[in-house]
Amino acid sequence: MSSTAHPGPSPSADLLGWTRAELERHLFAHGIKPVHADAVWAGLHRERRTCIESMAAVPPRVRRELAATGVFVGGCEVAREIASSDGHTRKYLLRLRDDEVIETVLMRFDGRMTACISTQVGCAMGCVFCATGQGGFRRNLSAGEIVAQVLHVAGVLAAEGHRLRNIVLMGQGEPLHNYDAVLRAVDILIDQKGVSLAASRITLSTVGLVPGIRRLADEGRTVSLAVSLHGATDAERLALVPIAKRWPLAELMDACRDYTARTGGRIFFEWTLIEDKNDSPAHAAALGRLLAGQKAQVNLIPLNPTEGYDGTPARHAHAKAFQAVLREAGIPSTVRQRRGIDIAAGCGQLAGTERRG
Ligand code: SAH
Ligand code: SF4
Repeated sequence: MSSTAHPGPSPSADLLGWTRAELERHLFAHGIKPVHADAVWAGLHRERRTCIESMAAVPPRVRRELAATGVFVGGCEVAREIASSDGHTRKYLLRLRDDEVIETVLMRFDGRMTACISTQVGCAMGCVFCATGQGGFRRNLSAGEIVAQVLHVAGVLAAEGHRLRNIVLMGQGEPLHNYDAVLRAVDILIDQKGVSLAASRITLSTVGLVPGIRRLADEGRTVSLAVSLHGATDAERLALVPIAKRWPLAELMDACRDYTARTGGRIFFEWTLIEDKNDSPAHAAALGRLLAGQKAQVNLIPLNPTEGYDGTPARHAHAKAFQAVLREAGIPSTVRQRRGIDIAAGCGQLAGTERRG
């Protein structure tokens, strides 16, 4: 789908939350020649200018006229940067305009740079083992605030001669609980005159919000989809993921099958491996049965420690045995490399604890 998928009114005066088509319409509506839109757009998304005034490629008169329309470049301020001891992970605490703080993580896997982006301040889903869920929900991020995180890490990488190619919407929050802003941000980020990420290199991870998955399929979205399962029966899943009560596995799997049929895409299924909870060969066999006939890949994530949950990560040997059972069932799987655990930047460890005031 093109960047016109969300042609509705822009959510705020933050230019980072606008699609290029919206920017063009805005210029036209204010008597500014739309021919200047590309330079403004490049100033925002390629040069990562933090204010209209600094857009050197835009004529000064146009800059003044644009600023006079009441728009601004949002962005965020780096409150703190923390690097993991192995140097492969950096976590940024970013302060938003209302002083909320979110976390964005930059990881290096086999020379490939991936940014883990937040979509909400906190999360309403309450998964028991997740630090974000343990802290509850504060608010949705705007599209501009989601884009700003990507621009921040893209800028860090650019200064080091690298290009950002992969993002995972796996930071704080449930992306499909903030559908409009998240998909608007995706539209902005895949624009070829801007950041120009490939849609397939944007992975959206959901805890399993069925209406959102169905809407992605209806809209023919080409992002990569990851669905967090953690349990292969309703009872086992419900013990970890409270939202499973609303959308039981039968409905979730139906939506996943429809999604695959309509988009042709393979779905990644995430499974946080917790010792003696969901890491036995019998659990693996149940997962194999659940995913039978699906174009699926399983990502196993050994539990990362969080304050509010006293589970233990599955042992390496158990993860290997789990994988062997899945392989027998014809389902490919990977065990996620552990990254940034010492700086609480691993999956589910993002608590955003640096709020001011
Ligand atoms: N809300 C979305 C995306 C953010 S969480 C979702 O739940 O999918 C990203 C992934 O981290 C999810 O698969 C989630 O289950 C996993 N996760 C959460 N807490 C974790 C923890 N403590 N250890 C390992 N994985 C965790
Ligand atoms: Fe929210 Fe995902 Fe954490 Fe669950 S695992 S509480 S959905 S961020």
